[in-house]
Amino acid sequence: MTEFKPPLEDMSFLLKNVFNVEQLWQGIPALAEAVDVDTAEAILEEAGKLASTLIAPLNRSGDEEGAKWDDGVVTTPAGFKEAFATFAEGGWGGLCGDPEFGGMGMPKMLGVLFDEMMYASNSSFTLYPTLTSGACLALNAHGSDELKNEYLPNLYSGRWSASMCLTEPHSGTDLGLIRTKAVPNDEGSYDISGTKIFITGGEHDLNENIIHLVLAKLPDAAPGARGISLFLVPKINVENDELTTPNNVSCGSIEHKMGIKASSTCVMNFDESKGYLIGEAGKGLACMFTMMNYERLSIGIQGIGCGEMAYQGGAEYAKERLQSKGVGPLRDKTKDADPIVVHGDVRRMLLTARANNEGSRAFALYIAKQLDVAKFSNEPEQVAKANSLVALLTPVAKAFFTDLGFESTVLGQQVYGGHGYIREWGMEQLVRDVRIAQIYEGTNGIQALDLIGRKVAANQGQDYNVFSDEVKAFISTFESSAQADNLRLVAMVEQLKTSIASLDELTQIILERSGDGNELNGNAVDYLNAFGYASFAYMWCMTSLSAVEAQASSDNPYFENKLTVAEFFFARLLPKQQAYTNSIKAGVESIMAMPNDMF
Ligand SMILES: Cc1cc2nc3c(=O)[nH]c(=O)nc-3n(C[C@H](O)[C@H](O)[C@H](O)COP(=O)(O)OP(=O)(O)OC[C@H]3O[C@@H](n4cnc5c(N)ncnc54)[C@H](O)[C@@H]3O)c2cc1C
Repeated sequence: MTEFKPPLEDMSFLLKNVFNVEQLWQGIPALAEAVDVDTAEAILEEAGKLASTLIAPLNRSGDEEGAKWDDGVVTTPAGFKEAFATFAEGGWGGLCGDPEFGGMGMPKMLGVLFDEMMYASNSSFTLYPTLTSGACLALNAHGSDELKNEYLPNLYSGRWSASMCLTEPHSGTDLGLIRTKAVPNDEGSYDISGTKIFITGGEHDLNENIIHLVLAKLPDAAPGARGISLFLVPKINVENDELTTPNNVSCGSIEHKMGIKASSTCVMNFDESKGYLIGEAGKGLACMFTMMNYERLSIGIQGIGCGEMAYQGGAEYAKERLQSKGVGPLRDKTKDADPIVVHGDVRRMLLTARANNEGSRAFALYIAKQLDVAKFSNEPEQVAKANSLVALLTPVAKAFFTDLGFESTVLGQQVYGGHGYIREWGMEQLVRDVRIAQIYEGTNGIQALDLIGRKVAANQGQDYNVFSDEVKAFISTFESSAQADNLRLVAMVEQLKTSIASLDELTQIILERSGDGNELNGNAVDYLNAFGYASFAYMWCMTSLSAVEAQASSDNPYFENKLTVAEFFFARLLPKQQAYTNSIKAGVESIMAMPNDMF
């Protein structure tokens, strides 16, 4: 089985060269105080060690053993509890947390790279702290000072964890249907009653308390989503930092599932459990979106992590496995068979996975940069622009990264041939583990609807124009730059021009058809995919420009390899944008034609 090698060189290049964080962080006082490039690199190196030496070794055994339920008690696989204690002691749970409550206050640009390494090492393990970080964000943004003071320090420190309780048996995508009730009590808090299903980390043995963020409805709540409120419900009640009495929260069972077997997926019962309102009554869904948006990017990164691990495995195997003679200069004439890496089809698979991963990593950092600007900058214009981009691009990141992550894990598995299907190589686990990322946190279909409906059509393409204008500004800056006569870059930028013009035209078509709900619904996924490839064209142009600039003072082959992968992307992957565009132009008549009962 391949050992995880943290892709630190790529991460460092993206941070320093492509996104020029030195200048970015210096320009934002809160970040200049919190971090510099050397500290960032030291943190990533330590994170890489943690992921590869502590967390990754528990991945296979965790999958074999799985989380176990016995009479309401959930036990994580051997080693998880100890590893979590080390994770917590290192302060990793508070990496991007608010320093006022014990967090480290690091930028999200480090957070996404940290998350990627963690997911690459062990998706199941990583879900426990990730849910906690998302809950902290929502609590910090919308909770009262009292709740923040009581809970945030213990969540950042890893003394307690958190869960996100939305889904009910009859209510998944459509949360307006939830039935969990919140009744005001004499103590000024609420009695929460109801059943939630599929709750990740709803119960486990990693630490002493679990803080559930629960969506519920007050007795006089408005119907649908407008009637939803958000509550903090501890598993064990807390007073002055001490645990007191159990809070009638129980885990009825855990699910047996395709992958992420060491992550407990729980049925949670609340029986007049004491809950505390977070934010305003009736605004619960909006508050929960702070957590959900965080989780959506994080789950997108699960796609990158699993894809990266699959690529590393596939590349290693392809250089060792001898099968069939190759043709041309890459073959070794002295041997009966060549390593399969010489074969065009194997190279296609590896390069696709690599381009998926590296494009996604760059785009994740691009979005993280917007999150950092939105959170830390004092310039209202910058903040407004960054917020528009975050809103627009979060569903793209979640769905596109995880679809590509699934593609990459299947390709990595395919490179192994029959051995990819056999457990001991670890490739089939990656396919199983990443598959859920396309489903939870809102299915990828729902992400696409969010993009096309709420983020594009609802504001007449306003947020879209922010993105498109930025891409065009990049192109014109390039055209008057010192690199404007570099033929390799010119070829890429010309394709970016065509790509963004095509996405502009497609967006206009979507806006014109937006009065027809079926047009939006039936075209949403194809639109998101076209959007994803166009965004990656932008990422690859930025990345390639930095690689060419770096080559002026370095002969490190990394930069030439970067350009080779970029050229593969433009030649072999970007054309998919046109196929998605053509599908949308064909309209949805053929999708809507068949009567329901003929399915
Ligand atoms: C392992 C696991 C962990 C999870 N962890 C959590 C957790 O921690 N907390 C939590 O609250 N939930 C969690 N979930 C629940 C998860 O978020 C939901 O399963 C998911 O959002 C989809 O809801 P659903 O399963 O009810 O599917 P449904 O909502 O029934 O959807 C079924 C299908 O219909 C499609 N669909 C639905 N509505 C529309 C529409 N309007 N237009 C087009 N298509 C539509 C969906 O895309 C999907 O393909 C988890 C689920 C799993 C399996």
